Amino acid sequence: MSNPLLEFQDLPPFSHIHAVHVEPAIDQLLSESRQHIEHLAIRVQDFTWENFIQPLENIKDRLNKVWSPVSHLNAVMNNEALRTAYNNCITKITEFNTALAQDQRIYNAYHSIKLGTGFSQLNSAQQKTITDALRDFHLSGIDLPEDQQQRFRAIKQLLSKLTSQFADNVLDATNAWKKPVSDETQLAGLPDSAKAIAKQTAAANQQPGWLLTLDFPCYYAVMSYADNRALRKEMHDAYVTRASDQGPHAGQWDNSKIMEEILALRHELALLLGFSNFAEYSLATKMADSTAKVMDFLHDLASRAKPYAQKDLDAVTRYARAHHNMDQLEPWDITYYSEKLRQHDYAITQEELKPYFPEPVVLNGLFDIVKRLYGLDIQPVHGIDTWHQDVKFFAISDEHNQLRGKFFIDLYARPNKRGGAWMGQCIGRKKQDGRIQTPVAYLTCNFSPPIGTDPALFTHSEVLTLFHEFGHGLHHMLTQVDNISVSGINGVAWDAVELPSQFMENFCWEQESIDLIARHYRSGEALPEALFAKMTAAKNFQSGMQLVRQLEFSLFDFRLHLEYDPSSGARIQETLDNVRQQVAVVKSASYNRFQHSFSHIFAGGYAAGYYSYKWAEILSADAFAKFEETGIFNRSTGKQFLHAILEQGGSKEPMALFKEFRGREPRIDALLRHRGIAA
Ligand code: ZN
Repeated sequence: MSNPLLEFQDLPPFSHIHAVHVEPAIDQLLSESRQHIEHLAIRVQDFTWENFIQPLENIKDRLNKVWSPVSHLNAVMNNEALRTAYNNCITKITEFNTALAQDQRIYNAYHSIKLGTGFSQLNSAQQKTITDALRDFHLSGIDLPEDQQQRFRAIKQLLSKLTSQFADNVLDATNAWKKPVSDETQLAGLPDSAKAIAKQTAAANQQPGWLLTLDFPCYYAVMSYADNRALRKEMHDAYVTRASDQGPHAGQWDNSKIMEEILALRHELALLLGFSNFAEYSLATKMADSTAKVMDFLHDLASRAKPYAQKDLDAVTRYARAHHNMDQLEPWDITYYSEKLRQHDYAITQEELKPYFPEPVVLNGLFDIVKRLYGLDIQPVHGIDTWHQDVKFFAISDEHNQLRGKFFIDLYARPNKRGGAWMGQCIGRKKQDGRIQTPVAYLTCNFSPPIGTDPALFTHSEVLTLFHEFGHGLHHMLTQVDNISVSGINGVAWDAVELPSQFMENFCWEQESIDLIARHYRSGEALPEALFAKMTAAKNFQSGMQLVRQLEFSLFDFRLHLEYDPSSGARIQETLDNVRQQVAVVKSASYNRFQHSFSHIFAGGYAAGYYSYKWAEILSADAFAKFEETGIFNRSTGKQFLHAILEQGGSKEPMALFKEFRGREPRIDALLRHRGIAA
């Protein structure tokens, strides 16, 4: 029987891949890979890069290339059959990977290459591949006695199952809540665009009237604009209690126990490897060198930001009282009155800017910006097989007409698509037999879809998100490293990985770049100067409150993993309450269960690593400051950034690359200045 997953050469044939293909393909591939590795381990005598590491890298790459479309489809076109197949395979792949990481013969081979005379002749990417691999062997328990190795493997298995269940619960709970509205007055205050989307959603569900969902664009529009306070509360309650023991679906997709188990297992895993907690284990592969350093960094930033956050909250509280007779602001009121205050202070709403950010203009402008910065040309490619009609495909070539990368872009929110925005790897770059494997990325967002025949119109914060993910995409696609384990974002320390992404966000705030990405979708008129001035004046509107919120997430995540104590359990709510007391200024509802949908740390790669966003922002802000100093489209600064940061990926340590670009170590000044906080 033919299996599209095993037959494709270049891009995955998405429309031909079905759930029924997944398990047979992975079974066959794992069995072939095992045989091949056995053969290598037994046959090869004098281990070298060429006769051992390269073939092994190719085996892993082949598996990744087949698994990537499966895991991508599971995230963006989820259904019951695919989910089952995915979950079954995750078990098998985890087993394969941990067995590989604990194979003494393979470890010995790497070790002998590291000690051998040939090592010094390898290039820096190859050397770092080997050094990273040896570190990862230790982090996978290569030094442990057999019974403990076995326990390590069991923990890995359990963790992959639990984290996958966590994400499934969040998706199901998000999809489960829907509110039909038949009376338009219920939606008073909502912009026409949000109402039109709700109407479109109802029609797609064969329903009259409007249908509200917990998809982020819909949820956020209601929280920002709906005059109906009861409606805001109802949606707020549904949103902040997803997958928990509270709210309209209390207990139905409850992640409480899963979170407890995840934290207990992570702690046990860290102890097995000789760390005192999972936070320490997490830092073993990161740029930050101690848990104390991370805590100091977060506390320092929190103490600088909190007075600003308090001022922000006081301002909105005063405003609501003075102008709307509202004495007690509840959590479902803050966004609503904040939006009104923004309008009052700066005469600008998110909604007003949307007509100036139609999708085609924003995309072309973004492409134009990377052309100016790095000399790249981005063109659409038609006739590519994708997973949904809304997906588009592009190719990037450089000024020498060399193809550098390709990407899928999937912009709109829809049911059965995981929320948030992310960049995923479809294919990574490597060089084999003189031939380059071109990197391919998935860029996934959950923006407001187009209404009728108009193009999709983005809020400025959606534009920021697009630039952010595109920055990750460039990091993945522009790499010039030939060794796949350290090409693109592979092998980049997690707390440095947000450098290229956050760096790109800066271009959404500069006049010169706004000129390229903003144009009225009907009149074609540029963003009026007055509107731009208001937009930048409002840039740091409530930035103190936003910053402490990010710090709340970071501290909660880090302390949860740092302070775990088996005798008292995970104390999740307690830790969150404690952190909130320390840094938050907005009081959350007592039944708020934000943590139950905090997929970053319970289902993504950010466990004891959410601080990375702020940590990397020091790097990204300071890197952008060089552009502020030399001109934001300065070609030589652009080239330096391209060569030092984007092209070298994980082939060197992030501090070395940063210094190569900046000529010195990073400083925090630019971050504070960009956020409107005194140094
Ligand atoms: Zn990111």
